[in-house]
Amino acid sequence: MRMLAAMLIVWLTQSLAHLGSPLEELKLSDLRDTFNEVHNGHPHEAIDIMAPRGTPVHAVVPGTIRKLFLSKAGGITIYEFDEPGQYCYYYAHLDRYADGLHEGMRVERGDIIAYVGSTGDADARAPHLHFAVFELSAAREWWKGEPIDPYTNLIEAVRNSR
Ligand SMILES: [Zn+2]
Repeated sequence: MRMLAAMLIVWLTQSLAHLGSPLEELKLSDLRDTFNEVHNGHPHEAIDIMAPRGTPVHAVVPGTIRKLFLSKAGGITIYEFDEPGQYCYYYAHLDRYADGLHEGMRVERGDIIAYVGSTGDADARAPHLHFAVFELSAAREWWKGEPIDPYTNLIEAVRNSR
């Protein structure tokens, strides 16, 4: 019993269990589990959500904008840490950041942080949000962690958004 209670507390405090939807008006049919696919010779370890260029991207959890990074593959990206620094949420191929977004900035779940695009190695004809989650190590390094498939959590987020 005590064990169960402890497990419940751990679950309740996990930001992953309480995601907001990264895109407004997302439907269950928009979600596909692309986590285990191989993209450009690499394990994808993320979910791609197709959306028109310029669609607002919302922070899925309350937390901190840890890093704004421009990478060859990801293009314009955001690394957001949740409040306990347990999980990092990664948003990529962004068209642009929301005005005033900066590193170290505190955000709430639902805040607009960026807009969907196709920067990096995404096909310009198929703008989408590349969304990934990884569990941070004790060192809390934004560039490394254990990848987690957020598909079921996104399904929950969409269900809860209506
Ligand atoms: Zn992707």
